[in-house]
Amino acid sequence: MTYEVPFIKPIFPTGVDIASDVGDIVASNWFTNFGPNERRFRDSIVDRISPSSYAVTFSNATIALIGALSVFIEEKRPGGVVLVPSFTFAAGPEAVRWVGLEPLFIDVDPITVQPALASAHAAFETHADRVVGILLCNTFGIGAPDVAAWEELAKNRNVPLIIDSAAGFGSEYPDGTPVGSRGDCEVVSFHATKPFAIGEGGAALTSDERRATEMRSFSNFGFDSDGAVRSGLNGKLQEFNAAIGLRQMESFDAALKDRRAALARYTSLLVGSGFAEAIPNADLSSVCFASFLLPDKIARDVMLDGLRSRGVEARVYYSPPVHRQPSFARSEVIDELKVSDDVYGRIIALPAFVRLPEHAFDSVSAVMHEMGAS
Ligand SMILES: *Cc1c(COP(=O)(O)O)cnc(C)c1O
Repeated sequence: MTYEVPFIKPIFPTGVDIASDVGDIVASNWFTNFGPNERRFRDSIVDRISPSSYAVTFSNATIALIGALSVFIEEKRPGGVVLVPSFTFAAGPEAVRWVGLEPLFIDVDPITVQPALASAHAAFETHADRVVGILLCNTFGIGAPDVAAWEELAKNRNVPLIIDSAAGFGSEYPDGTPVGSRGDCEVVSFHATKPFAIGEGGAALTSDERRATEMRSFSNFGFDSDGAVRSGLNGKLQEFNAAIGLRQMESFDAALKDRRAALARYTSLLVGSGFAEAIPNADLSSVCFASFLLPDKIARDVMLDGLRSRGVEARVYYSPPVHRQPSFARSEVIDELKVSDDVYGRIIALPAFVRLPEHAFDSVSAVMHEMGAS
């Protein structure tokens, strides 16, 4: 079915602007392999995040995650595991497998729905000798409030901290630092469904120059001047997508303002009335979509159906958690992942794209009214 208000609707440059960029690219005869658009886009990412960072662009964030894990985790021994939350998008755990390791799933915090530090400590208690890395995930692109404690843990345990911030380009951590600037490496996505959309694309950010060079080499068959010198593949960003990225950068701040305004309006409707709980720090994020926790699964499902029947495409993220998906059904877990199971049963995701129609907010009010909110 098509919805009056779809879940995602990226803002894109106009067809005329895109055609002009495509014309320039064709005239230059330089389509990929670190061309002028890629270079300028890469510089603009660094300008936005931190002058002390290196950005490595990729064809998408999943390949960027594989590149980051491949380069930062030196010990890829058999039986090695990477701590990763189950309440995330499957790309992270899948990337772990592509570098020859297995995920060890940890739980999330019931309030922030971010990876739970206590669960990671429990994992180190029981599996310390097998943990070779941590893949933190900034849930929904929201910067984890305890990122400094994760950095500390990784340092004490002498393992790299890679952060999957796929939906978080443009977000800030509660301490004011930009998402993209923490851990050993952060990965962001520019997929069409993310707040900063270029079609397909991603980037890995790090302050480690040597590792940045290695990740760039990874994206280009593991080449250096001697040919293939390390694990690699073809993960390069095309000029067309980089050109769109350059245009998006110009309008991004206005887009962020609009998305945050949509989140604030939902929050005053749903949280102001005590009907639902907000996800802490979502207001500092780039608001890929607007998530709220309902008291239980029954209320969530009534709201989900009510909105969908009114033409508003609400969804559930992340559902089910990765350890409930067939490919990971036999993976090891910590604490039975009780919170992850509870959270995905009662969370709802609402569209929050730029110039969101009033119908979205009106529908939320109407459904709340039907459900007995005063
Ligand atoms: C979207 C997303 C990815 C994958 O990004 P692509 O650019 O589509 O490969 C990975 N992790 C999370 C948490 C995501 O939301």
